Amino acid sequence: MALTFHTDGDLTMAQQYLDVLAQHNAHVTCFIVGKWLDANPTWAAKLTAAGHELANHTYNHLTFGQLPPAQMNDEVVQCRDLLVRLTGQPGKYFRPSGTDDGTSTPPAAVLQASGAAGYATVLGFDVDPLDYTDPGAAAVTQRTLAAVKAGSVVSLHFNHAGTLAALPGILDGLAQKNLTAVTTSELLA
Ligand SMILES: [Zn+2]
Repeated sequence: MALTFHTDGDLTMAQQYLDVLAQHNAHVTCFIVGKWLDANPTWAAKLTAAGHELANHTYNHLTFGQLPPAQMNDEVVQCRDLLVRLTGQPGKYFRPSGTDDGTSTPPAAVLQASGAAGYATVLGFDVDPLDYTDPGAAAVTQRTLAAVKAGSVVSLHFNHAGTLAALPGILDGLAQKNLTAVTTSELLA
């Protein structure tokens, strides 16, 4: 299974996420908010050196589905070009910002913008504990473990104290289910 994280926000907290993941030998996919990485460029190497996969989550994290097509293209390309500049590659996956539906086929305009920028896959998710609504760590853990199965893609977020607090319990629970958190590329290989 794969844990995927909307990645931005406070750096001290981000480091704490990395520490918990390392303690559990878990590798995840970081959907990068471009403007955050642009402001904190050393985090590209920090995340990849820790074994995590970087992916494109737009530059400004606007409500992507409501943007005109040209701005959709700009948002994907600006984050892509930053990833290429900092890591040498664009990453394999795109996920639109501001989307709460992880299972439906994305709108044609989203697929068009993604494909035009070189991303064949718009990565959704089948497990969504709504951690960004800050329901508390126990709820995030319980919702995730209740829904996760082999092959699942879970949507989680950096910069949320409840998610950080939930992470050890999620990783312990995955181990009890004999599930291993791997990068999306490994999962879909
Ligand atoms: Zn996001």
